[in-house]
Amino acid sequence: MVAAAEDSCTARPVDAAPAYNSAPPRHGPVWKVLESVPDPEIPAVSVVDLGIVREASEGGVVLTPTYTGCPATRVIETMVRAALDEAGFVHVPVETTLSPPWTTDWITEEGRQKLRAYGIAPPMPAGRRVVECPQCGSPSTEEISRFGSTPCKALWRCRSCAEPFDLFKCH
Ligand SMILES: [Zn+2]
Repeated sequence: MVAAAEDSCTARPVDAAPAYNSAPPRHGPVWKVLESVPDPEIPAVSVVDLGIVREASEGGVVLTPTYTGCPATRVIETMVRAALDEAGFVHVPVETTLSPPWTTDWITEEGRQKLRAYGIAPPMPAGRRVVECPQCGSPSTEEISRFGSTPCKALWRCRSCAEPFDLFKCH
């Protein structure tokens, strides 16, 4: 059942290179630390899953928030700093850059799967208007409220299975 829902969400051919290929390679001990830092709004995904981390090495960590007004941004910085300190990377500086701006393409495939498993519709690629139900994959959905449980999420409902769900809308 998961496979069917996944297929209907995949706009590109299976063999095509994923859109987040431009993401930096994720190796090394600093990346490992950041993989353990959850997103404060959606603890099911890490800041690495969301593509917020642009660079991570002993030379420094660069974060790009999902959008400038996101109240979680400062929380994320604090959590990253704390995780680095705890792992012994006290000397590694953390900086935030807004350029290039974060895009939903930076969410890893693993991150998208975790969002769906958590019952949150992953953000749609730019220009795509259809929101698919994370439970059953139906494109027949409607917005109930622009603001869901947090400012980064909108509340939607599926017309097919009648389940309400959150749409991740930070961008
Ligand atoms: Zn549904």
